[in-house]
Parts: sequence; C-alpha cells; structure tokens
Amino acid sequence: MIKPAMLVFLVPIIFGVIGGVMAANRGRNFIFWALLSALFPVFLLIIWFEKPLKEVEGHFRRCTSCGEWIKWLENPCHYCRGEQPPR
Ligand SMILES: [Zn+2]
Repeated sequence: MIKPAMLVFLVPIIFGVIGGVMAANRGRNFIFWALLSALFPVFLLIIWFEKPLKEVEGHFRRCTSCGEWIKWLENPCHYCRGEQPPR
C-alpha cells in the first residue's frame, strides 16, 4: 500500500530517475540532472529539449549530411531528408 505521505518522497525520486536517465541518454551527468529534476521538475522539460553533448549509441547521433542531432535509428534525417549510413 502506498500512503499519501510516501508520495512526498516517491514523486521526487521518480522525477529524479526520469531526469537522470534522459540526461544519461544525452551524454550528460546522471547524478547532477537527477538531483535537479527531483528538486525542480521543470528541469525534466529542459533536459527533454536539451541537445546531446555527444553521440550516445542507441539514442542520438549527428546527421551525416547537415550535422543536426537526430534519433539513433532515424533515417532519413527529418531536417534535411539526408539518407543515413546503417549502424
Ligand atoms: Zn540532416
């Protein structure tokens, strides 16, 4: 059974984990973003729109034609319609 008082702790932990995982998928620091998201859930939105720092296998890579960040399996690029080499 989840008591209402537990939600006070549970909700920040859930926000923290989601924010941390999204940050890790973008090549960013898991702990740093987990803490920010737990304390200030608005950072979930910020990290969602944040561009990756580096290519993260299975999540993000750069388009080989225009250099924009695209999803790992996105083909063609939704910015320039450029075909991506298979990975
Ligand atoms: Zn492109």
